Amino acid sequence: MSKTLSDINDKIVRGAARVVRADEMATLVRAKGPERAAEEVDVVTTGTFGAMCSSGVWLNFGHSDPPIKMSRVWLNDVEAYTGVAAVDAYIGATQPSQSRGIAYGGAHVIEDLLRGKPVVLRAVAYGTDCYPRKKIVTTITLADLNSAVMSNPRNGYQRYNAATNSGPRALRTYMGKLLPRFGNVTFSGAGALSPLSNDPGYRAIGIGTRIFLGGAPGFVTGPGTQHSPQSGFGTIMVQGDLKRMSPEFVRAATFPGYGSTLYLGIGIPIPILAAESARAAGVGDKDIFTSVMDYGVPSRTRPALREASYAELKSGAIELAGREVRTSPLSSYAAARRIADALKTWIERGEFLLTAPSENLPTQATVKPLERRPSQPDGPGPKPSPASSSNGRVAWDAGTCIECGECLSICPRSVFSRTRDWAIRADISACAGCRLCVDVCPVGAIRPPGRSKLGDARRRQVAL
Ligand code: SF4
Ligand code: SF4
Repeated sequence: MSKTLSDINDKIVRGAARVVRADEMATLVRAKGPERAAEEVDVVTTGTFGAMCSSGVWLNFGHSDPPIKMSRVWLNDVEAYTGVAAVDAYIGATQPSQSRGIAYGGAHVIEDLLRGKPVVLRAVAYGTDCYPRKKIVTTITLADLNSAVMSNPRNGYQRYNAATNSGPRALRTYMGKLLPRFGNVTFSGAGALSPLSNDPGYRAIGIGTRIFLGGAPGFVTGPGTQHSPQSGFGTIMVQGDLKRMSPEFVRAATFPGYGSTLYLGIGIPIPILAAESARAAGVGDKDIFTSVMDYGVPSRTRPALREASYAELKSGAIELAGREVRTSPLSSYAAARRIADALKTWIERGEFLLTAPSENLPTQATVKPLERRPSQPDGPGPKPSPASSSNGRVAWDAGTCIECGECLSICPRSVFSRTRDWAIRADISACAGCRLCVDVCPVGAIRPPGRSKLGDARRRQVAL
């Protein structure tokens, strides 16, 4: 038996649609088979909450009097891209502050705006007859802006490599802190809950698909940049209204030694039209594999050491180089489940109807590398971790923690642990003060004694 999208939307409107989370669908398909599951289920909801560097927001400030054609714009000292008419700018998540360095970036400006905080706008211009003003300094809030459109070129990777480090020193990367000599493995993505993993042929998810984006309805606007389905690395470009989003699902973070990034929540509904879509959405963690890459090799062609399933990665340890190595997720499985549940609630209440793609995502694209000219010199390498000598215990702020899990594999005393539901816990009484963990947390939830919170630094006034 097959259904149409309009059959499913009719059921949603009547409050009669059966909606399940993607991980529940995996259990159902295993138990009953895809045909029966397709008869019983109308919609599967997915979710992911992870570091999505390729994110940003288009802002429209409105015209001043006299008017200005802004040629350079800074928000809390973070430069935003202009060059698109007079008073529009794009603030990118990874752009660092010019006065505070990589601890505060575009992602922090976005979160500050979303939380209703005032942000200092500074702009300069060359002046024209129609736009005579050459400088403006003022304070804005999200409510002051005519529009704030989140527009992300590349989010929601279908598959993301796991990372480890064979080298002799710790590396600080976009995959978190990688301990030397295969000291840990980090991975990203929500496995069986990841949107594109549940629709690998891109039949349900395409251009125009309505989604959950940062706590509000949004859309898929195209294939993401670097969309590479032939290698299993599909991505999506997405858009949504920042003003309707929630800071619960839009969180600024900093990977120490790497820079700022935006933790973002995305959920996508998959309509179950027939057994084929049920089979695809019935994928489990044990069916989804990724490569464990050696970041100790400083090259684009770094080697894959092995393939590992999400079931193995989520178990807390995998076998590598002849021994057991602990693993940490960088994305929050607990938040991914909350997103899939929230989307399920919207659909069950009849507040969220499904859309068919107006165009499908390409299934045949590949990505080319940037070939460097031979005359270009090598850039500087990553900086080593600072040494530390404190014996005090660290402090852990549960309210700041976003439950990404990156700290899980770092601590030799297993101070950090997770519950079966992937909530993060810390038993600070077991801390030996080695400080291995203090520069790991992307949101500053782990602090050495005496250090002020990251949030304090964020609140400093920007010097103009
Ligand atoms: S303490 Fe930091 S690193 Fe650990 S789970 Fe929480 S946010 Fe992630
Ligand atoms: S400082 Fe304490 S909590 Fe952090 S890694 Fe060392 S023992 Fe574990």
